[in-house]
Amino acid sequence: MVNIKLILKEYVNSKEETELNKLKTVFNQCLDNVVLSHIKIKGSEPDIGPIDVMFDDSFKEGKIGAFVHPKFEGDTGKLLIKRKAISEGGYEYIKHIITHELLHACLGYTEGDSHDDEFIGLSVEVGLPSEYRD
Ligand SMILES: [Zn+2]
Repeated sequence: MVNIKLILKEYVNSKEETELNKLKTVFNQCLDNVVLSHIKIKGSEPDIGPIDVMFDDSFKEGKIGAFVHPKFEGDTGKLLIKRKAISEGGYEYIKHIITHELLHACLGYTEGDSHDDEFIGLSVEVGLPSEYRD
């Protein structure tokens, strides 16, 4: 007999795997663009270590993306995206969210409002639409 539960579980797993692979592909494209823009504006590559990109629904209500800066030398930064971003706007929307969070990764941790002139300058260069700059 065919085990429907097992088939469903495998279907869900492979769907999640597909979405995660798409997320990583979009992330790599965004990273290339952000690095190029940083070089254009600042004359050097941004000082960023490895970053893990993943779906995560557990962070602050009202936010769709977040970047967790590395906490110590050799730590990995984490770029988090809520799963509902896929249904809300698809990967074009996710591209803007990732780019926004990558700019925070490039510019490092700051207290308070980090959407300063430096952030805006890099946003403009990378082509991030104005509604995704704050
Ligand atoms: Zn921000």
